[in-house]
Amino acid sequence: MPKMKAVQVIKPGSPFELVEREIPQPGPGQVRIRVRACGICHSDVFTRENLFPGIQYPRVPGHEVAGVIDDIGPGVNTWSKGQRVGVGWHGGHCGDCADCRRGDFINCAHLKVTGIHFDGGYEEYMLAPVTALAALPDGISFEEAAPLLCAGVTTYNSLRHAGALPGDLVAVEGVGGLGHLGIQFANKFGYKVAAISRGKENAELARKLGAHYYIDSRATNVAEELQKLGGARVILATAPSGKSKSALVDGLGTNG
Ligand SMILES: [Zn+2]
Ligand SMILES: [Zn+2]
Repeated sequence: MPKMKAVQVIKPGSPFELVEREIPQPGPGQVRIRVRACGICHSDVFTRENLFPGIQYPRVPGHEVAGVIDDIGPGVNTWSKGQRVGVGWHGGHCGDCADCRRGDFINCAHLKVTGIHFDGGYEEYMLAPVTALAALPDGISFEEAAPLLCAGVTTYNSLRHAGALPGDLVAVEGVGGLGHLGIQFANKFGYKVAAISRGKENAELARKLGAHYYIDSRATNVAEELQKLGGARVILATAPSGKSKSALVDGLGTNG
């Protein structure tokens, strides 16, 4: 059997280990992806530390996967070999439960999470159910596409469903893995973008990414600064801190 390299976690708390495995064969409703790039997400720690229900070990993490379909399983007729695809956190839904019937697939009662319930993208070949696949446009590289499958979806979907219109003030808190994408999306959506971060270090990067304003949360009162700009219609908070989020609320404008 031909082999591949994979990075797995053998049991909760174990370090990542590089191993050789047999290249898996796609089953019914699955495709095999030749992985070309896989982003690293903080949520990979769930797999390493067993912080998510339903993980069976050994498990290969990775849910920001970009690659090319290299084989298809029985019953797959809408995808073909050679197609560029991505797989994110959403690793497939059942299609039958109440939430699926409402079209709310991420809340499927039987949702599978990539790299949690089945092996993810830290391997050369990965199996994925067709319900997990996103088609990748030709114009984007695998390396650029991969982080969009989790960090990108998180910020893009938050912003596009948050109700702001072009010209509205939208604040993005944090200029990290999520925030640097949030600023770019917010700029492309036509918002007035205020980036919020601690210290001055990120000011230049934030402006380069498309922020019109930069607010240093260490040196100023963020809520007051946002109110001076008219109050934010939306604040996209990406820093993992309840305390920092609470301090932002008063920066919202009317109907924010
Ligand atoms: Zn993630
Ligand atoms: Zn379902």
